[in-house]
Amino acid sequence: MKIPVPEHIRKLEAYQPGKPIKEVERELGLKNTIKMASNENPLGPCPGAVKAAVRALNEVHYYPEGGGFYLCEALSRYYGVAKEQIILGNGSVELIEIAAKTFIQKGLNTVFSDGAFAMYRIATLAMDGDVKVVPMAGRTHDLKAMAKAVDENTRLMLVANPNNPTGTYNSFKEVKELMESVPDTVLVIVDEAYKEYVRKEDYKSAACLLEKHKNLLVLGTFSKAYGLAGLRIGYGFGDPELLQTLHKVRSPFNTSLVAQEACIAALDDREFVKQSVELNYVEMEYLEKELSSLGLKYTPSVCNFILVDVPGSGKAFFEALLREGVIVRPMAMSGFPGSIRVTICKREGNKRFIEATKKVLKSLK
Ligand SMILES: *Cc1c(COP(=O)(O)O)cnc(C)c1O
Repeated sequence: MKIPVPEHIRKLEAYQPGKPIKEVERELGLKNTIKMASNENPLGPCPGAVKAAVRALNEVHYYPEGGGFYLCEALSRYYGVAKEQIILGNGSVELIEIAAKTFIQKGLNTVFSDGAFAMYRIATLAMDGDVKVVPMAGRTHDLKAMAKAVDENTRLMLVANPNNPTGTYNSFKEVKELMESVPDTVLVIVDEAYKEYVRKEDYKSAACLLEKHKNLLVLGTFSKAYGLAGLRIGYGFGDPELLQTLHKVRSPFNTSLVAQEACIAALDDREFVKQSVELNYVEMEYLEKELSSLGLKYTPSVCNFILVDVPGSGKAFFEALLREGVIVRPMAMSGFPGSIRVTICKREGNKRFIEATKKVLKSLK
């Protein structure tokens, strides 16, 4: 290619998504592989959402409502946040990109913690911004250190709560103190992709801090607990003036008509999320017990995945599991070269993972 690529794009490393089942089966000549790599819902998609999506297909000769008016209304009712305080993204990841496009340019920086979601780095570097990576306290965000890392060129701070890939969380009190200590010239994005799964007394969504802090954007998604990752809808709660600024950068029809309709229906299907979370904890207990009995260390998780420390490199372990037809995720890209991340599935899948892990461990001896 003869087109000159700007230096900051040339240096950028592309996001490595979890391997799709079909790709793995094709490459390794396997059948019946199981994917535990992308934190997708093992119960499949929320059924009410699928029905609504099928109905909406008959309307797709129309452009969608650009801002997703009715979905914003449904989210507003569900969460008690004003419609003007809601913005939709093609997945919540797009909202992170929109925020970076809006606020980051050369010379400006984003603060996030080591071992955070890989997209935070990519979104910043793509805008030629700098990343200020703050070490974690153990495997949890060190919010005090993150606040201290802010300088006059900081425009964004990204906090996944709970965090992927560690599965750890910060208490509401800590997040509140963070908002109180960060200057209001920094947009703090609290990414709550896994909030539905958390069962901790001291955890709460940061959305109730919006009243007081205009420099806050709280993200949620339909990709995890609602089982709608393939439809690509995430949402952000923020101050109306902030959202007006983000809307300027948002592509006009960034979420599809089918996805909007499906997500409106999903919000009505409370039973599905409840079932998903209940299954998650039964299976988490099973996996924790089995991992311990294999002598493997893991990070206690409040999400639908577990970060497991393995002997040798996470990449080698991942590849060995792949040959057994089990797709997990190596985590070197997020700063954990000796770990794999495993999505909690139904019992049958979790058992297969444990059996495959036993085999791999034996072959290492
Ligand atoms: C899965 C995930 C998301 C959700 O991404 P979508 O674009 O909404 O599918 C966001 N943040 C983190 C940390 C995640 O793990």
